Amino acid sequence: MASSKGANTYNRQNWEDSEFPILCQTCLGDNPYLRMMKEPYGKECKICARPFTVFRWCPGARMRFKKTEVCQTCSKIKNVCQTCLLDLEYGLPVQVRDAALKIQDNMPKSDVNKEYYQQNMEREMALNDGVNPSGALGKAMAPSDMLLKLARTTPYYKRNRPHICSFWVKGECKRGEECPYRHEKPTDPDDPLADQNIKDRFYGMNDPVADKLMNRYTSMPKLEPPEDRTITTLYVGGLGDKVGETELKDYFYQFGEIRSINVVSKQQCAFVQFTTRAAAETASEKSFNKLIINGRRLNIKWGKSQGQIGTEREEKEEERHNLAPVPGLPGALPIPPEEISNNFFNLGPMPPMQLRGPMPPRGPPHMIPMFMRGPPPPGVRLPPPPPGMMPLRPPPGVMPRGHVPQMHYPSQDPNRMGATMQNR
Ligand SMILES: [Zn+2]
Ligand SMILES: [Zn+2]
Ligand SMILES: [Zn+2]
Repeated sequence: MASSKGANTYNRQNWEDSEFPILCQTCLGDNPYLRMMKEPYGKECKICARPFTVFRWCPGARMRFKKTEVCQTCSKIKNVCQTCLLDLEYGLPVQVRDAALKIQDNMPKSDVNKEYYQQNMEREMALNDGVNPSGALGKAMAPSDMLLKLARTTPYYKRNRPHICSFWVKGECKRGEECPYRHEKPTDPDDPLADQNIKDRFYGMNDPVADKLMNRYTSMPKLEPPEDRTITTLYVGGLGDKVGETELKDYFYQFGEIRSINVVSKQQCAFVQFTTRAAAETASEKSFNKLIINGRRLNIKWGKSQGQIGTEREEKEEERHNLAPVPGLPGALPIPPEEISNNFFNLGPMPPMQLRGPMPPRGPPHMIPMFMRGPPPPGVRLPPPPPGMMPLRPPPGVMPRGHVPQMHYPSQDPNRMGATMQNR
């Protein structure tokens, strides 16, 4: 049986009309004043071929127009976005999610029985409470380790960018800056990721993105507990403004008694000290790379031992004395005005500025020199930010056109720090 729009006309009550699309946060974009255009029965669903209501919208400035590709029944059956077909809850391909949750459904992939299955599912959806997903997904087990580690917790708007300009690739685009398409090198056609298609994504088979993600999971590092067994403190980074002491306590107390929680709100991190080493070890194991509180993925690291800090500090002093002064830099920089009252790492004030090498994530990050929060003095290269912090971009005017700054160290190259080439 052919399942084209023509073949479907005999069964018009089967067509799908809807008021609002089912979309993920990424596809919706960051523009709160979205204008959604709607075309009833505008196209056939790319999975079940039934005509459905197509929505079109622009997800933000300099983004491409997006539209829904599959019908809402198909989207609900798999709990995926109608446009990108990624899982609505975890932002992951169906193949990854289903492997993680050990889901197996019996959705027919050929035209035979497809319509019958579709109707059954619709009936089931109409009967159920609308809270639990239908079909195999509704019977899924609790989220797995893999799902927690791979889940996307923030929207990824880059995915909404325009497509690559095919004229530019051939060297023929004459539109220059005006061109609405991206002037970028296309992905290598031999790259397995170049071969993605909507059906494989939907059914969760042979999806190259899923393979890549699952490989990433198997090669994820583990957090080794430090040899010094007196260390019972964990560093928790990336708190944002949604995670505070209460949230941390509510989560961490399950692993054992907590001696103290010290939140350094300015740096959006905290130090959680347990009374026993065993509790700290369990907490690190259960939280590393997979702790998500209030939608924020948190970084977990071990605290440092006292002895280690001493030697590291001496090394840093050495390093500092070997450096030549940088012209244009104020001679003495103010020491940060506040000290945290609960200094677990017994650190003294840090040398005012580190000129060589990446800033190591040692000790509480309140040690970052104060001027890093404002624009640096002209000519000053900043060390890269510690992990978890936004890369610092030199403010406009720091690098005048044509000025080639002298590099102290490759990691201080502003182009590697996330700065763009816009000044060149
Ligand atoms: Zn469909
Ligand atoms: Zn989407
Ligand atoms: Zn172009």
